[in-house]
Amino acid sequence: MGRYTGPVCRLCRRDGRKLFLKGTRCDTSKCALERRKSAPGMHGMRRGKLTDFGLHLREKQKVKHFYGVLERQFRRYFARAERSAGNTGKVLMSLLERRLDNVVYRLGFALSRAHARQLVRHGHITVNGRRVDLPNYEVHVGDVISVKNRPKTLEIVKAARETNRQAVPDFLSRIDGEVPEGHVVRLPDIMDVSIPVEPQLIIEFCSK
Ligand code: SF4
Repeated sequence: MGRYTGPVCRLCRRDGRKLFLKGTRCDTSKCALERRKSAPGMHGMRRGKLTDFGLHLREKQKVKHFYGVLERQFRRYFARAERSAGNTGKVLMSLLERRLDNVVYRLGFALSRAHARQLVRHGHITVNGRRVDLPNYEVHVGDVISVKNRPKTLEIVKAARETNRQAVPDFLSRIDGEVPEGHVVRLPDIMDVSIPVEPQLIIEFCSK
């Protein structure tokens, strides 16, 4: 599965808000958005008023960048949400929150979603005792997410936990033992998303 490999601070500057894509750096004065509020590019200073289309597009791009998914994968999530019986926007955000890389990050085992993705890809994460190396794996209620019990992994996760001090969201619980593990208490809903999102704008964009 592909991923964006370009400069991530540009994405925040384009959206005009912090997307916390760089881990610890995002909370310091080194944050690119703190230093340069303008959009990236030659004409970034001339950020004009957005049209309706622009607003809808920016909302979709923001969510895509936040979760680190590319267009095709995002469209698949949207199609699934649209087919579901519930509210499309809420289901869409729930599906994205259930991604394993997001859950690993929100449990505090990684510095950012990109770091969490790397941990998953490199086989450091287990779900219900079995290694899962798919960042888009969807967690279910009752799943136990843990890290491999080997010195290198425990060292990486310990360092991340000391830095990533964000609170664990309500839909998860964490047990801080020798080998830390997290439990999925319930399915996430839109209230569990850590940035403000207006799914209605995304629906309007994707339904055109
Ligand atoms: Fe965004 Fe973090 Fe870069 Fe700041 S440091 S612009 S929050 S990715």
